[in-house]
Amino acid sequence: MKEFKKAIIFFKDMLLRAHHLLCIRNFKGKGYSPEFVRNYYEVLGRLTKANIKIVNSVDVICEKCPHNKGVCKKEKDSEMKTRKFDDRLIKTANIDLDEEYLYEDLKELVKHIKARDFCNDCEWKSLCTD
Ligand code: SF4
Repeated sequence: MKEFKKAIIFFKDMLLRAHHLLCIRNFKGKGYSPEFVRNYYEVLGRLTKANIKIVNSVDVICEKCPHNKGVCKKEKDSEMKTRKFDDRLIKTANIDLDEEYLYEDLKELVKHIKARDFCNDCEWKSLCTD
């Protein structure tokens, strides 16, 4: 019975903002605050065990971001711009928002998208290696 409960916790769902599929591949331990970075590593640790739903709104990575006020408030129009960016990625990678994915399948869907070409004016782009 104990083992069964563990399995349920182990495979819990994860909401992931679409463009974070590119950020995750290029994460170098930098971010908006120490808590943000700690949470990021924690998300990376759970990634391959989760059932993932892709969203165009705040997610598990935004959860500990100082700019997250229920929507992205990094700048005045950040949420709108970020949603458009998420939507572009969702369309390009042919991601189904009603589907639950494993990370390995999502990696396949975005493998042809190069962050340095796709992400327009992201402040972290110089850290990206793909
Ligand atoms: S800046 Fe905005 S989109 Fe990026 S992690 Fe923070 S809340 Fe999320």
